[in-house]
Amino acid sequence: MERRLERERRQMLDDHLAARGITDASVLAAMGTVPRELFVPGHLWEAAYDDHPLPLGNAQTISQPYIVALTLQAANIQPDDVVLDIGTGSGYAAAVASRIAARVVSVERVSDLSRQAETVLRKLGYENIELLIGDGTRGAPEHEPFDVIISAAAAANIPESWSEQLAPGGRIVAPVGTRSGQRLRSVRRDARGDWIETDFGGVRFVPLVTGGSSASSSRAGEREER
Ligand code: SAH
Repeated sequence: MERRLERERRQMLDDHLAARGITDASVLAAMGTVPRELFVPGHLWEAAYDDHPLPLGNAQTISQPYIVALTLQAANIQPDDVVLDIGTGSGYAAAVASRIAARVVSVERVSDLSRQAETVLRKLGYENIELLIGDGTRGAPEHEPFDVIISAAAAANIPESWSEQLAPGGRIVAPVGTRSGQRLRSVRRDARGDWIETDFGGVRFVPLVTGGSSASSSRAGEREER
């Protein structure tokens, strides 16, 4: 089984990521290291490396590999960076980011998901990730500033608190839009303080739910794909 999963992980790098334009060596190396099968529900381990999102329980999903890679590549994470990850979910994206960055702070509103993620991350011995439970719309004011903010939940607009908690030269990569249409966008603050926006195409993420946290989520299952 171990051999098979390793082969599938390599295939994911070649067929789903490199072949579709993921060229950032640090992203490919990190995704070649993190055992994605540990982040998906046990009965779905055989599908762990397929290029589509998978259900996590609590009506949430683990992002498809290509979308995780595209988000991280767009964020251009450097080894000294501190990253804020909105929507911990399974913890997979946070885990991959933590293999590139110095430190990752990850916020999840569904406490059950955060606790499951913590169990997996502890098992892997990934110690540079801090998990917070709460509304990521507010960012993580007690840990700012961040060099990079990534989100796996879509808002109509990028929350102001995220822009405010960004370090000089920082980047935000997030899905922006509604259920009927979302774009993956990056915004970056240049040396003069101007904002530069880049569009990475149409995506489908779960919505950013504003206000409070919950033990479990009752929202209808939604998928994210591209
Ligand atoms: N990065 C995750 C993807 C999870 S899907 C992974 O790799 O598995 C998006 C997650 O965002 C869901 O778990 C959802 O509960 C969470 N979410 C939605 N609104 C949120 C908010 N306001 N604050 C924090 N998390 C939120």
